[in-house]
Amino acid sequence: MGATDIAAGLRQAGRVALDLLLPPHCLTCDAVVDAPGRFCVSCFRHTNFVTAPCCDRCGLPFAHAAEGGAHGLCAACLRHPPPWRRARAALLYLSLIHI
Ligand SMILES: [Zn+2]
Ligand SMILES: [Zn+2]
Repeated sequence: MGATDIAAGLRQAGRVALDLLLPPHCLTCDAVVDAPGRFCVSCFRHTNFVTAPCCDRCGLPFAHAAEGGAHGLCAACLRHPPPWRRARAALLYLSLIHI
């Protein structure tokens, strides 16, 4: 067993001890989850991923493909084009947007 293996073992032991003391919680509720940065099963079921059709520039979801018109942009990006070419979010915050 080399020094790298020992360091990895110590890191893993530290992580296990930390999880026992401060268990990781779901990103959106207080449920305990396997690892940090995860959703619990219940929240994952209610998670909406951003998928097409959406604004080509900012990724704002459209209710239907025709909403973006020929340019494929939302009204906000048409009015004030953002300085970036393309941005996407993985998830919707349903408390803010309902589609
Ligand atoms: Zn949750
Ligand atoms: Zn947009």
